[in-house]
Amino acid sequence: MAGERIQVPRGTFDLLPDDLAQREQVEQAARRVLEPAGYRRLETPTFEATELFARGVGASTDIVQKEMYTFDDGGGRSVTLRPEGTAPVCRAYLEHGMHRLAQPVKVWYLGRFYRHEAPQAGRYREFWQVGAEAVGSADPAVDAELIVLLADLLEELQVRDVVLSLSSLGSPDARSVYRERLAAHLRANEGRLSGEVRERIDLNPLRAFDSDHPGTQEVMRDAPMLLDGLDDADAEHFARVRGLLDDAGVAYRVDPTLVRGLDYYARTVFEFSSGALGAQSGVGGGGRYDGLVEQLGGDPTPGCGWAAGVERMLLAAGGRPVPALPIDLFVAYAKEDMRPEAFRLAAQARRSGLSAQLELAGRSLKGQLKQAGRLHARWAAILGDEGASLRDMESGDQRVMAPGDVVAAVQRGERL
Ligand code: ATP
Ligand code: MG
Repeated sequence: MAGERIQVPRGTFDLLPDDLAQREQVEQAARRVLEPAGYRRLETPTFEATELFARGVGASTDIVQKEMYTFDDGGGRSVTLRPEGTAPVCRAYLEHGMHRLAQPVKVWYLGRFYRHEAPQAGRYREFWQVGAEAVGSADPAVDAELIVLLADLLEELQVRDVVLSLSSLGSPDARSVYRERLAAHLRANEGRLSGEVRERIDLNPLRAFDSDHPGTQEVMRDAPMLLDGLDDADAEHFARVRGLLDDAGVAYRVDPTLVRGLDYYARTVFEFSSGALGAQSGVGGGGRYDGLVEQLGGDPTPGCGWAAGVERMLLAAGGRPVPALPIDLFVAYAKEDMRPEAFRLAAQARRSGLSAQLELAGRSLKGQLKQAGRLHARWAAILGDEGASLRDMESGDQRVMAPGDVVAAVQRGERL
């Protein structure tokens, strides 16, 4: 009796060869967009000390409150599968003394991330992000450069109906004053709020802007706005970021209610969303995190970055067809006793730098040639008593030669 079939865990997925071919295009696009701007790839481990996220991402965030995969590693240490990439990059910056390098240090990454949330379209428990970070400069040109690069990446990937929302959260000090004002406004209207928002008035009042509860939304319409109360330096920084984006021709919408789900942001925050997605419309976002490195035990160090969801980018791009991997040579045989010779020829062809496949399913000669066609082979070599017939799969022409001459003939690539 067959055992019960085991399936992929909820919120995860397999990447089949066609999926991976598509993702390789994402990787290449990221490289093409980011590396000319001086961003070099850096990868951190899949799990980290839990403390890194608890301290870095912030105790009041959804991520730390309910979305982390945290476990004891067996040695009494608490570790967490990384839910995001910015805190790990800052940890690596400190660990490798990157403050000694020319600043800002610019890196990008592409990998898997983990959040325990309710799976739905575009929301998984294991998902992929591509991200970019610039650590060590407070210049507004860094913010603008990063935003332009993400806009370019989305365009390169043909992500549809993209809208960029932009705001500033001001400095952490201004923000804590503002949080108190906002909490007071929420408390004054407590009866109209959703239960969830009411419970978190003290913990994280800013998240009330994200609520889809009608009563809460009404209350938020008259809420004080952080953007109206920026101090001069923060307002100046925000104006310069906007000016650079205007110069670069990147359209954006200033959204004073934009609240990102991570505590470390200060000053600039931004989010790209796509009208081609449903409820989970956020494609990628980020902002400035000038206090994060210090929170992780380093000297005060400014930083800015973003992360974009690979699955959502692909969804919003509408899935381009993946071209089949072409092969140079398919080795077929007319008779069973030619198999060792065919095996040798395929191996020799590959060692000579050709892509070559061998018949492996015991097909008839006719079936083998059909298979060569399905694989989009440029040439087929049919081994028989009289030697090798090399067939040009485009013209159908054929020429007999010694098996030892096949590789050179394919390499010359002349039409038969
Ligand atoms: P959302 O509001 O959709 O939960 P977020 O604010 O939590 O997004 P970030 O932490 O900013 O998202 O992550 C950056 C990007 O990573 C998102 O814009 C999204 O494309 C992607 N992302 C985040 N969480 C998931 C998930 N669970 N599954 C798939 N992609 C995700
Ligand atoms: Mg989220």
